[in-house]
Amino acid sequence: MDYQAVLEEVAAHARPYVRQGRVADYIPALERVSADRFGIAVADIHGEVYGVGDWEVPFSVQSISKAFSLALVMAQSHGGHDDGIWRRVGREPSGTPFNSLVQLEAENGIPRNPFINAGALVVTDRLQTLTGDASTSMLHFLREESGNPDLAFDQSVADSEAEHGDRNAALAHFMASFGNLENPVPSVIEHYFWQCSIEMSCRDLAVAGGFLARHGLRADGSRLLEAREAKRINAVMLTCGTYDAAGEFAYRVGLPAKSGVGGGIIAVIPGRCTLCVWSPGLDARGNSVAGAAALDHFTTLTGWSVF
Ligand code: GLN
Repeated sequence: MDYQAVLEEVAAHARPYVRQGRVADYIPALERVSADRFGIAVADIHGEVYGVGDWEVPFSVQSISKAFSLALVMAQSHGGHDDGIWRRVGREPSGTPFNSLVQLEAENGIPRNPFINAGALVVTDRLQTLTGDASTSMLHFLREESGNPDLAFDQSVADSEAEHGDRNAALAHFMASFGNLENPVPSVIEHYFWQCSIEMSCRDLAVAGGFLARHGLRADGSRLLEAREAKRINAVMLTCGTYDAAGEFAYRVGLPAKSGVGGGIIAVIPGRCTLCVWSPGLDARGNSVAGAAALDHFTTLTGWSVF
């Protein structure tokens, strides 16, 4: 496969979509980013990386961090058959927006899945208990796995989220009222905002997400996850990773994927490669418009959807 040629063609296809979406403004610090950006990178399972456009420009990972926090919790919990996290969060698509509160009351404070905000808060809470510092442990992992020691939080994004974080605080307090948080609410939301504020490029994310394509093996060949655990994360990404557009995304792209309101999307082709695409213009569900168009074209060109 001539990845570079495929990426050039995918980028040319996606360019007309770049200005069609809207940059997220409910977190004011995210609005500073130019809507014109577009980048895409592929990291194959052997560590070769290819990219086009703004593929080396760091952006706010936002909800893409939710895939990594779930992986780190599963990695810390395996051995035995620790289904602990799955007693506190489900694995069904929610069909509601990523920051919705509505299902929590009827479902006893158990979020539908780990990739909506409520579910990710529970996962961050668990990671906090397991590691003592949920955001720093994720940053260290991402630095090691991406091979980029300069990765950092963007404190201004984390602060901006905290200042406009009433919705996430409400989700956390509501779950705490059902006994579904182990740590104090202020600490859980603080670590969650920091995780979301990490800045990474398409290159960094494609490389760092390589373990999902390698059935759980890290870049250095050591095992992060059992193969069955990597399979499960990919399955939840496919069914829940793009929120209430997961069905549409499976229809168009057909890959496990996780999006974020910074405009990034990572997507996994198990056994082959991990992709990351970035363009800040979002659709009404919070997914990158040009990013989805690019991934759609990628799987159409290569025939590499999981279907
Ligand atoms: N930090 C964002 C929030 O909590 C993440 C949402 C997203 O990327 N979908 O609202």
